[in-house]
Amino acid sequence: MRARENSDNPAQGMRAITVSPGISDSARLDDVPEPPAEDGAVLVRTLALGVCATDREILTGIHGSPPPGEHRLVLGHESLGKVIAASAQSGLVPGDLVVGIVRRPDPEPCVACAEGEWDMCRNGRYTERGIKERHGYGAERFRVEPEFAVKIDPDLGILGVLLEPASILAKAWDHTERIGRRARVWQPRTLLVTGAGPIGLLAALMGAQRGLEVHVLDRNKGGPKEAIVRDLGGIYHNDVESLGRLAPDVLMECTGAPAVICGCLGAAAAAGIVCLTGVTEPGKRFDLDIGGLNRTLVLDNSAVFGTVNANRRHYELAAQALARADKSWLERLITRRIPLECWSEALEHRRGDIKVIIDF
Ligand SMILES: [Zn+2]
Repeated sequence: MRARENSDNPAQGMRAITVSPGISDSARLDDVPEPPAEDGAVLVRTLALGVCATDREILTGIHGSPPPGEHRLVLGHESLGKVIAASAQSGLVPGDLVVGIVRRPDPEPCVACAEGEWDMCRNGRYTERGIKERHGYGAERFRVEPEFAVKIDPDLGILGVLLEPASILAKAWDHTERIGRRARVWQPRTLLVTGAGPIGLLAALMGAQRGLEVHVLDRNKGGPKEAIVRDLGGIYHNDVESLGRLAPDVLMECTGAPAVICGCLGAAAAAGIVCLTGVTEPGKRFDLDIGGLNRTLVLDNSAVFGTVNANRRHYELAAQALARADKSWLERLITRRIPLECWSEALEHRRGDIKVIIDF
C-alpha cells in the first residue's frame, strides 16, 4: 500500500451524508467512523456523488432502509472515487478511478442473483448501497468489494459520476435488443425518448451511438436541453402530439409521468418495443381504451417492458459508452456542482437542472 494522503488518514474519521430512513428531513452531514473492512478490500476516496429522484424520496422518508441494527443510513448510490488501496488480485491500483455497483445479490440467492444478474432478483431480498440496508457512497471514503468496483477510463475524470445512471440505460438497451431478436431480422431505425433528464439524454446518447434517428420529447422549451439533443444529432420535440405521430421502432419512456406513459403505450411502430424506465407512485388513474390498446399491441407484435437497476455487465457496457462519447457533450449533462459543505443545495430542484453532483 502506498503512503496515504493526509486527508485519507483513517484515524480522523470522516464526514458523510446520513439520513434516518422513514423520517422526513432527517438528513445531515455527520461524522462517522471509517468504512469497515467488511465493506470490501478496495478503499476509495470519494470524488463526487450524483443525486437523483431516489435520493429525494429517501430524504422525504418514503423510501430507503438502514442496515440491520442501525438507525441511520449513509446516503448515495451514484459514486465516483479514486482508489487509495486495493489488493493485488483486485486488478485495481491506487489512483484508478472507480464507481461502486449499487445492488448486492440476495442472501439466498435466487436463480438470477446466483448467476450474477442481481438486477433481475426474483425474491426482492437484494440490498442496495445508499438505498436498502447497506450504507451508501456519500462519505469521504468508502470500501467496496473488487467485484463490485468498476474501473473507468481516466480521461472521463469527473464525468465518471454518470456511470451509475448510464448503467440503467445500458441495461435498457441490452434488454431492448434481446427482445428485438425475437424476430429473425429486426432493424430498428428510429428511437423516441420521452424526457430529457439525465436518464433520457443518456438513452438518447446510446441510441445515437447505435446509429438510430433520435427523437427526444420533453415539455421544456427554450432551455439547454434542446441544444443538447440537437448536438447529439437528434430532433427535439416539445409537443405531446408527436407521441402519436412518430411511431418509433424503439420508445424509451424516461419521464415516469403517468400522462406521458399513457401516451407511450401502443405508440411504437409495428414490431416496436416500448421500454419503461421511470418508477411511479401508484394511484394515478387514466381512462384507457384497453380493447383498442390490446388490439394494437397484438396486431403489431408490440412489446412493452419495464427495466430497473443493472448488473456488472451493464456497468461495463455503460463505461464503454461513456468512454466513446464526446466529453464536451457529457459535460453539459452536469449542470450544477455543489461542495460537500452545502450538500443540501444539491437536492433542491432548480430550473435548468439536469444532473447535479456533490463534490467531495
Ligand atoms: Zn435474488
